[in-house]
Amino acid sequence: MSHFQVLTIPDPRLRQVAAPVTKVDDEVRLLLDQMLEAMYEEDGGGLAAPQIGILKRIVVMDVEEDDSKNPIFMVNPKITWASENKIWKREACLSVPGVSAEILRSEEVEVEYIDYHNMPQTLKAGGWKGRCIQHELDHLEGKLYIDHLSPLKRQLILGKLKRVNRIRAHA
Ligand SMILES: [Zn+2]
Repeated sequence: MSHFQVLTIPDPRLRQVAAPVTKVDDEVRLLLDQMLEAMYEEDGGGLAAPQIGILKRIVVMDVEEDDSKNPIFMVNPKITWASENKIWKREACLSVPGVSAEILRSEEVEVEYIDYHNMPQTLKAGGWKGRCIQHELDHLEGKLYIDHLSPLKRQLILGKLKRVNRIRAHA
């Protein structure tokens, strides 16, 4: 069992802006390890600290399609460039369980962050990795992928979410 439970909407902590981390020390590394464990346990491709109620600018992800593990740890990540070209892809979120929706985002982004060893890194990524970076960084601003939808589409998703949860509650 992991130490953390992933929060789901409408938990207000998912709507707060996370604070920067001063330094990646042993305490932060322990948190990174525990977040990764929680993410693998939930079968997610990415997890941001606010999703477990910790309002810090920390993200873990692993977007490998096969079973090989290739975790990326990002502290204080910041998107420094985003391609003008945008594409639609279906997204889901551990904090918005049971539903998914097509979201329009930049095809490629460049991100700067501090890594597991407190070293600055720059990463340019497209595909699922680029998509996941944009999704997870939104969490640090208290934003969810459904915020990118039109009000009508968002209502449809939230209605579906309520039905899914009702079925779960009765299961
Ligand atoms: Zn998410």
